[in-house]
Amino acid sequence: MSLPYFLRLLCICFSALFLVHAAAAAGVTIAAPGAIRLARGMRARLASRFLFGLRMLPLGLAGFVVLGLCVPSFLWLEPQGGGEQVGWPCLAMALLGAAMSLGSAARVAGASLRSLQFRRAWGNTRGDIWIDGELVSMTIVPQQAPLLAVAGIIRHKLVVSSSVLQALSPDELCAALRHERAHRVWRDNFKRLVFLAAPRGFVFSRKLGAIEHQWSRLAEWAADDHAAGGDSQRALSLATALVQVARLGSAAPQPAILSPFLDSQNLSERVDRLLHVVQSNKKCSRKTPAMIGCAVLLVTCFLSAAMLWPASLSIVHFLLERLID
Ligand SMILES: [Zn+2]
Repeated sequence: MSLPYFLRLLCICFSALFLVHAAAAAGVTIAAPGAIRLARGMRARLASRFLFGLRMLPLGLAGFVVLGLCVPSFLWLEPQGGGEQVGWPCLAMALLGAAMSLGSAARVAGASLRSLQFRRAWGNTRGDIWIDGELVSMTIVPQQAPLLAVAGIIRHKLVVSSSVLQALSPDELCAALRHERAHRVWRDNFKRLVFLAAPRGFVFSRKLGAIEHQWSRLAEWAADDHAAGGDSQRALSLATALVQVARLGSAAPQPAILSPFLDSQNLSERVDRLLHVVQSNKKCSRKTPAMIGCAVLLVTCFLSAAMLWPASLSIVHFLLERLID
C-alpha cells in the first residue's frame, strides 16, 4: 500500500512502538519471577521503586526508540516527496501499536473520569488534624462503609469516612494518616496512573500485571514502615488501626487512582509484619542499591551515546526501510 510522507512516519512510529514494546515486555516477563524474588530481599521502599522501574521498562524503551531514534532519523534522512510502498506486516504491526496506545488512552480517560465523579460524590465537608506538627486537612464523607485514602494526582485530597473517624483512637488515626502521608509524598497515585497508561502488552499482560500487584503490596509495606518509623508503639497503633478499619466491613467502591489505607487482600500479612517491625527491621544489603544504580547508569550512558551518535540515525533509518518493505 502506498502511503504519503507523514502517514508513513505515523505507521513507522506505531509499528516500532509495538515491536520494541513486545520485545522488552517478553524480556521483562522472563525476568519477572527472579526480579520479584530479588525485591523480597530489599527494603519495601527500594523494592517498590525497583518493581516500578521494571514494569515501566518496556514503555520507556519503546518511547526512547520511537521518539529518540525513529522520528529524528526519519525526519532527517527520509526524502520528502510522493508516496512510498508500505508492506502489510508493517501495517499490521502499526495497527497493533495504535490499538495498544488507544487502549492506554481509554484506561487513563476512564479512570480520570471515575475519579472526578467520586470527588464530587464525596462532597466538601472539611476537618483538620495536627500530625507531627503539621496541620492536615481532610474531607469527611458521612458514610458507614470504611474509607481512608489519598485521592488525586496533583491536588491531593485526604478522604476519611465518618465511620473510620469514630472507630479509631487519636493514636490510631495519627498512625493511619502518617501512612497516607507517605502515599502522598511518594506520589503513589501518579504511579497508579502511569500503570494505567502503560500498555498491557497483549500476551504478556498477566506477568506485567503480577509486577503491578507486587508493587502495590510493597507500596503498602513501605507506607507502613514510614508510618511506624521503627517505633514499636506506632507500629502497634497502625496494626490496631488496620484491624479496626477491617472490622467496619467491606470498603465502599473506590476509583482506580487512589491510595487506600487498607485493601482487603493483605491485611493479616501487614498486621503480622507491623507486630514484628522492630525485631525484623531488615537491613538492606548495601550491594543491592549500588548494583541497581550501576545498571541504570550503564543503560543511560548507552542510550545517550546511541542517540547522540549521528551514524546511529543512519543505521536506524536503514532498519526502518527494511521494516516498511
Ligand atoms: Zn496504603
